Amino acid sequence: MTGAGPQGGILFVLSAPSGAGKSTVAERLLGRVTGLRRTVSHTTRAPREGERDAVDYHFVDEAAFEGMAGRNEFLEWAQVHGARYGTSRGAVARALAEGGGDLLLVIDVQGGRALRGMKDIDAVTIFLLPPSEEELERRLRGRGSDSDAAIRQRLDNARREMQEQDWYDHKVINDEVARAVDEVEGIIRRERARRAARQGAR
Ligand code: 5GP
Repeated sequence: MTGAGPQGGILFVLSAPSGAGKSTVAERLLGRVTGLRRTVSHTTRAPREGERDAVDYHFVDEAAFEGMAGRNEFLEWAQVHGARYGTSRGAVARALAEGGGDLLLVIDVQGGRALRGMKDIDAVTIFLLPPSEEELERRLRGRGSDSDAAIRQRLDNARREMQEQDWYDHKVINDEVARAVDEVEGIIRRERARRAARQGAR
């Protein structure tokens, strides 16, 4: 499997520390950039208010997740804030082969690192940064859906994750959502043009 081929789409990976505003940026991008779809991950965490199964995530129990992991059905999976999250290998392969456009994986930093290490995956990795640590904390608290302990855990994780930004292909600061979305859209468009030119030259 590859992230780019004559028929295949490009695999874009958007990672960020928790609270950097990744979901909002991803949602706006998906609503705006034609030919860009996201994959629906599997998770063992409970649905938050308003989340729908098979739309936001495939919500599964530990046994089901374990079974999929054991059968090597995840392209990557990671433990994040006490729950497990995984990207279905089949879903990604099918989506890229179908020729239906490009794929956006909105995954944590561990997932981004795993994909980067895979020789047969040619992903374009984008790291979204919060403007500052204070702003990150404010956003995490403002979400209101997590306990104090959960917020502290997310902040600790975020600090650790920030250290991984350097090995991403692109870094975008989410100081203002509209601006950050524009910047990511620009990256996607340039990457598409670059790959199209490369394929045309073959
Ligand atoms: P949340 O519980 O807030 O929806 O997500 C927690 C973290 O897990 C986020 O950073 C989210 O991007 C990440 N995540 C969601 N799906 C996947 C996945 O399939 N793989 C990995 N590695 N992380 C994921």
